[in-house]
Amino acid sequence: MEVLMRNVFQALGKNQSANKLAKRYGLQFGAKRFVAGESIEKAIASVKQLNKEGKVVTLDHLGEFVFTEAEANESAAMCIKTLDAIAKAGVQSNLSLKMTSLGLDISKDLCMKNMRRILDRAKMYDNFVRIDMEDYAHCQISLDIYRELRKEYDNVGIVIQAYLYRTEQDIRDLNAYNANLRLVKGAYKEATEVAFPEKKDVDENYKKIIKEHLLNGNYTAIASHDEKVIEYTKKVVQEHQIPNDQFEFQMLYGICVDLQEKLVQEGYKVRVYVPYGVDWFGYFMRRLAERPANVWFVLKNLAK
Ligand SMILES: Cc1cc2nc3c(=O)[nH]c(=O)nc-3n(C[C@H](O)[C@H](O)[C@H](O)COP(=O)(O)OP(=O)(O)OC[C@H]3O[C@@H](n4cnc5c(N)ncnc54)[C@H](O)[C@@H]3O)c2cc1C
Repeated sequence: MEVLMRNVFQALGKNQSANKLAKRYGLQFGAKRFVAGESIEKAIASVKQLNKEGKVVTLDHLGEFVFTEAEANESAAMCIKTLDAIAKAGVQSNLSLKMTSLGLDISKDLCMKNMRRILDRAKMYDNFVRIDMEDYAHCQISLDIYRELRKEYDNVGIVIQAYLYRTEQDIRDLNAYNANLRLVKGAYKEATEVAFPEKKDVDENYKKIIKEHLLNGNYTAIASHDEKVIEYTKKVVQEHQIPNDQFEFQMLYGICVDLQEKLVQEGYKVRVYVPYGVDWFGYFMRRLAERPANVWFVLKNLAK
């Protein structure tokens, strides 16, 4: 049953008509728990609140289904607007983005051009940009672009997913770039030819890459709500005297808030990933797919 629900949410998230319909109705069905709002003003208000609670933020302007150059450029303009708003408000937030929304599926050159525009603006504000990792089909090209950009910029990082078989090798290769990495388990539905099908193997690989990247001396963002992984990380950093400014914990907006607060109280750096924008449906479906138990939360909202 759980697998079936997971597949349904994953398919719905990719469905363009469902996304269009959802956009028309605005933030509904309990999506407000996971998405800060549709406007930049709402997003900045959330950042201010989280900063007040001792957490830093990464803002993501949601954008899915980009098919034309004009749409890709518009999406890049929204990223730049987000960086401007962060600087203007003087809040503690960097930026996360998806390269498909910047034209990756149209051409690599277009995507690179948009990435450079965004990174130049971020540099102007001494800010940082994180490239989210999407599905396996985009993994190699995303890493190729990251490596090219990394030669020109020091304010760019990327995400590596523990569920992929290739990940251990990627971690080794990226060491040569002193890559600032966000490490995650992985959120997409992937074939068994490329990704571990069993959760226990993903968890095992996740711990392995966290330790390796930290011990290589690179900045590591451990993006997980899994308490076992968090405890494991604390143990590794204590045992190997990894300084507190070489890593941070990251969690998603609205998820495991108590755990976020506990880590802040313990003195760890916690960054909350705050998505905003009218294109909220695909993101919302991925969160439901991760944890079908969230569906009860949605049903309760529908009943209200
Ligand atoms: C900051 C951040 C950025 C991310 N960026 C990417 C990315 O770029 N690419 C990518 O593929 N994936 C990304 N992910 C998603 C990630 O890959 C996982 O799908 C997601 O974090 C769930 O895995 P977990 O590590 O929390 O552990 P799990 O073992 O899945 O969950 C552990 C516990 O966390 C809680 N939990 C987890 N997910 C949810 C949820 N949706 N709702 C409510 N509770 C939940 C539950 O209590 C669960 O028992 C990101 C995650 C975070 C936190």
